[in-house]
This record gives sequence, structure tokens and C-alpha cells, in this order.
Amino acid sequence: MLTTSLLAITSLLSFMMLLIVGSLLRSRVAGVREWCFANVAVLSALPLFALRGVVPDFLSIPVANLTLGGGLTLYYAGCARFLGRPPRWHLLGASLGVLAAAMLFWHYGIDNPQLRVVIVSAYHATLLLATALLILRHIPPRRHPYNYWLTAGMAAAFAVGHIVRGVVFGSAPAPGPEIFAPTLFNTVMLTIGAIVMPAMTMGSVLMIHDAMLATAEEAANRDYLTGAISRKHFDLLARQEMARAVARGWPLSIVVIDLDHFKAINDTHGHAGGDTVLREFVKLVRDSLREGDVFGRLGGEEFAVLLPGTDTPGAIRIAERLRTQASRHLVAGPFGVCHYTLSGGVATWLEHESLEALCIRADRALYAAKISGRNLVLSDVLPSDETASEAG
Ligand code: GH3
Ligand code: MG
Ligand code: MG
Repeated sequence: MLTTSLLAITSLLSFMMLLIVGSLLRSRVAGVREWCFANVAVLSALPLFALRGVVPDFLSIPVANLTLGGGLTLYYAGCARFLGRPPRWHLLGASLGVLAAAMLFWHYGIDNPQLRVVIVSAYHATLLLATALLILRHIPPRRHPYNYWLTAGMAAAFAVGHIVRGVVFGSAPAPGPEIFAPTLFNTVMLTIGAIVMPAMTMGSVLMIHDAMLATAEEAANRDYLTGAISRKHFDLLARQEMARAVARGWPLSIVVIDLDHFKAINDTHGHAGGDTVLREFVKLVRDSLREGDVFGRLGGEEFAVLLPGTDTPGAIRIAERLRTQASRHLVAGPFGVCHYTLSGGVATWLEHESLEALCIRADRALYAAKISGRNLVLSDVLPSDETASEAG
């Protein structure tokens, strides 16, 4: 009776988790399908366990255990796909095959319920430990790791539960039919076994939410065409860098970049050609900058680079390097081969200056570079000094 109630409650939980994870199918996050099927498998297996003695043993012993094991296998495959790892279906299929052979042999060959429990526990413990390790080793970078730690922690804890079950059953002296009696130990173990999938699916739902939030943030903060940081996010990061510069007493410089004669590039190579140039230019700058530098697309063919810890001469050096690289960069595509140049304006932040004022000074330098002939980097000079780099 207790067993049946437990199985009914966990079936209900599994069903609810299936509805929740199923509602996330259209998120298109990898692995969700496998996690859904994992819950379907568990939902199919639990009634078979509950109907032991009512339905043929073939269904309530080997089939029920294989379906439950298959559910956990699908759960592991879902984690692998979610984390961008190969699910290794052949290995998973083979391990399920071994479980099937063992279940059939120790039921029809030699009827040994004790050994069956040990084998099933070992199978579950191994898959759960593999799941925990998989998650811990492949937490996506630059994300809050808590959801991943929680899911991996639950998998490890359930694995320990299965190991305890296997060891206790395996070392029981003379097991008879009473080994499945509803003792406290058996009830606790059954609860652990039955709660695994709803609990692990809850972990999956947390990880899916994390992935969806990251995708939404990425879409909001990045320019769709080039993948560079969008203007809004650039402004936010720039303000954060200003606060950091004050706290550390570091200089902070900005380079505003505008690609030269871009209208002519579009006219010659078509809009798609112009788009390719923008994308390739962004890649070039990304490869050229340091980790902490912030690179954004302000709009059209205008970009900005924020250089924390960099004074005016340093910023001119970096801008000049970008100018040289761009002038030597040939972008090829169906539109032909395109050569382009850029002009840059450099300004170094004066403490308490607003971001707008800083950008206006950098724009002024950029404008000066444009009217001086383009393919040039100039800095916003204070009356006493003059800094310019010549066109190459
Ligand atoms: P200048 O050297 O003075 O900067 O000349 P320019 O032609 O680059 O400047 P202008 O501002 O006159 O023209 C910018 C051009 O950039 C016009 C616009 O169609 C093009 N452009 C803006 N955004 C995109 C884009 O996303 N893709 C493409 N292909 N072209 C774009
Ligand atoms: Mg331009
Ligand atoms: Mg422009």
C-alpha cells in the first residue's frame, strides 16, 4: 500500500515535471526533447513496478527496470546535448543492452532478485555520477554556476543513495522474498529511486532557464549583424568602466572609429558586400584587442573601443594598429575582393566628465581625421600637445 502510494505520488510529480519541461520544448534549447522522453520513460515504468504481481513478472521486472534505466540514460543524453557534448548514443545503447542481458539472465536464467537490485543500483549510480561529472566539467563560461552545481549535486547525492542500496542489498546474508518487504530502509530507498527523475528534471528546468536568459541577454546586448556589443550595452559598460577607473586611479581612453567611404563600398560591392565587410572588421578588431577592452557598434559603420588602463599615447598606438590592420585587410566574397580603411578619433577621459562629453571630444578628433584625408587616427588634443598618426 505504502509502495503504491509512493509510486503514485512520484508518478504525479514526474507528470508535472514532464508538463513543465515539455512547455520549454519551443525554447529550442538542445536536450529538452531527451529530458521529455526521460520523464515519459519513468512515467511508463512506475505503474509497472506498482502492478508487480498483477501483471506478468516479465513486465514488472525486466521491462520496468529497463524502462526506468532507459529514462535515466535519456536524461544523461539530454544533459550532454544541452552542454554541447556528444551524447555517445552507441555507448549508452550498449550499456542499456548489458543491463537488459543481466536482468533477463538473473530472472529467467538464475532467479536472483538480490543480484538484480545490485545491478540496477550500479547502473543508476554510474549514470548519475557520469551526469554529475558531465555537468561540472562543462558549465558554460560566464554564467552563474549555481543551477549547474545544484543539478550535479543532486545527481551525486542520488548516486550515493543507489550505492548504499546496492551495497546493503549485496551484502544481505540470505535474501528471500522478504528482501522487498516495506521496511524503513526499503521505503527510503524506493523514495530516493522514484524521486530521482522529477528532482533531476527540476535541475534541468533551472539550467534551461539559465540558457534562455543568457540567450535573451545576448540578443539584447549584441548587435545582430556583427555580434559586436550594441550601443545601449556599450554605454552601460562604459559607465561601469568610468567608476572602475576612478576607484583604481587608472586612465581610460576611447577610440571612435568610422569606416571610410562606406557608401562607395556598398555602391561597388552591394549591401551584402558591405555587411560582410562590417562582420569581418568586427572579427579583426576582436582578435586584436585585449580581454578587458570593450568594443561596440555605435550604429551603421561607426564603432567605439573603450580602453581601460590606457592613456592617450597608448590609445593612439592601439587605434593606429587597428588602422594599419584594416588598411591591409582584404575581404573576399561572392561580391569580389574589397579593400577598406578607417578613420579614428581618440580621447582620454577627464575625471568627472560625462560619457557624452568624452564621446563628443573623440568625435571631434574623428571629424578632424576625416577632413584631413581619412585612413588616419587623431586624438582630441589639448591646446599644448598635438598627436596625429599618418595615413599608411
Ligand atoms: P565617410 O568616409 O565620410 O565616413 O563616408 P561614408 O560613405 O562612410 O559615410 P556616410 O555616413 O555618408 O555613409 C555611411 C554608409 O554606411 C551609408 C549606409 O548605407 C552604410 N551603412 C550603414 N549601416 C550599414 C549596414 O548595416 N550595412 C551596410 N551594408 N551598410 C551600412
Ligand atoms: Mg563612414
Ligand atoms: Mg559614419
